[in-house]
Amino acid sequence: MIVMKFGGTSVEDAKAIKTLTEIVKKEIPRKPIVVVSACSGITNQLLRTAQLAGAGSKEEALQMIAQIESRHKKIIKELFDAEMTKFLNKHITAQTEELVRLAGGVAVLGELTPRSLDTFAAYGERFSSFIIHHYFESQKIKSFWVDARSFMSTDDQFTKANVQFPVTEQKLREIVQPKIHNGYVVMTQGFIGSTQNGITTTIGRGGSDYSAAIIGSLLNAEEIQIWTDVDGILSADPTIVKDAKKIKIMSFNEASELAYFGARVLHPETILPAVKKNIPVRVLNSKNPNSSGTMIVSKPKIDKKCIVKSIAYKEGITLINIVSTRMFLAHGFLENIFDVFHKYQTIVHTITTSMVSVTVTIDNVKYLAQIVRDLKQFSTVTVAEKKAIVCIVGDNLRNSPGLAVKMLSPISDININMISQGASEINLSFVLDEEYVDDVVARLHKELFSHAGDFPEIFE
Ligand code: ASP
Ligand code: MG
Repeated sequence: MIVMKFGGTSVEDAKAIKTLTEIVKKEIPRKPIVVVSACSGITNQLLRTAQLAGAGSKEEALQMIAQIESRHKKIIKELFDAEMTKFLNKHITAQTEELVRLAGGVAVLGELTPRSLDTFAAYGERFSSFIIHHYFESQKIKSFWVDARSFMSTDDQFTKANVQFPVTEQKLREIVQPKIHNGYVVMTQGFIGSTQNGITTTIGRGGSDYSAAIIGSLLNAEEIQIWTDVDGILSADPTIVKDAKKIKIMSFNEASELAYFGARVLHPETILPAVKKNIPVRVLNSKNPNSSGTMIVSKPKIDKKCIVKSIAYKEGITLINIVSTRMFLAHGFLENIFDVFHKYQTIVHTITTSMVSVTVTIDNVKYLAQIVRDLKQFSTVTVAEKKAIVCIVGDNLRNSPGLAVKMLSPISDININMISQGASEINLSFVLDEEYVDDVVARLHKELFSHAGDFPEIFE
């Protein structure tokens, strides 16, 4: 069994759905479970509808719903004959009428709760999957449509619900597995779930990859395919580095490091459930289905001397320097610091320490003011914004002596605020002013990938 996940652009219109269908057909012998996103842009529109309703702009909310309705009906018209079009239109109309009632209710209350937000958001994936399921049937594919809310069990942290694995596994085995055994292609949705009481939830924006990984890991898939609109993971951002190389194979660890930076390709958490079960994840391009994509495996067997796989970056980073007012010997200092970040649920990404000071980077500045205030109770704090992290990733960075010097020599004229070779030992990160990013990434790539041609099994 394999899981094939198709993102928003892979289901965006009739043409994309036809391509998807051809892609799935070829994999039928491998017993696919197909997980789809909403058509690109629809989740945003649904959330906007909810917000408009919450703000009392009922008319605008209704216009938005009408747009959502006509987008899907256009797709239907292009895919089906008259009879099926009528049937599916009726379905879409019934669903959008529900949305209209919901929007009316929210507008009357004048209050939008996270719970209602999820109810709105969860329509998108149901629309797309329902249409595609019927298209599969029209193409003589034996397809079984299942509402993911019937198996994806979550808690009630609306808009970012946590999946409850044991219950979800049990339900997948009850509801989905028998259909696979009976030769059906199972068609379901990413992103959505429900609480034990049957209340609709979502697992966070971009969560379909995570849904796919969860389903694949709980059912021990032989492979999880993430179909998107790029050829795979590249050695650098192609908008900066025109001759960036596609990485054909990389390790889970490398991909996890990159995930934080390259969320455009792969959602970070996607990796976790798959890693635990050693299930390979393949990133593929539905706009270029013949490309081999990027295969992410636990331990690639090749790759002897290849040190650097990719250079990534992230802008919008804030650097916080924390100096202990009691200078050294203040034990518990680190603990106090992390208590503060923990209290405000803010993730620290990079950290360096000295005897008396600690420097950390964060990208979520929602509670920055509170964090600084609390840190100042026991330290001197300075904050620098508009920073970027540039990160060099490769399994073989580990045990490569003198690496930092070698890596950074092409940019020795640029001021670097902080360097850290990650605890994983496979990433070398440094923080600098945002404005230098393009130049730095381009220069490093030129230098570090000048030998990429020596590794045809890794780079394309
Ligand atoms: N449709 C959802 C979103 O746009 C989930 C996904 O596409 O992964 O966030
Ligand atoms: Mg996505």
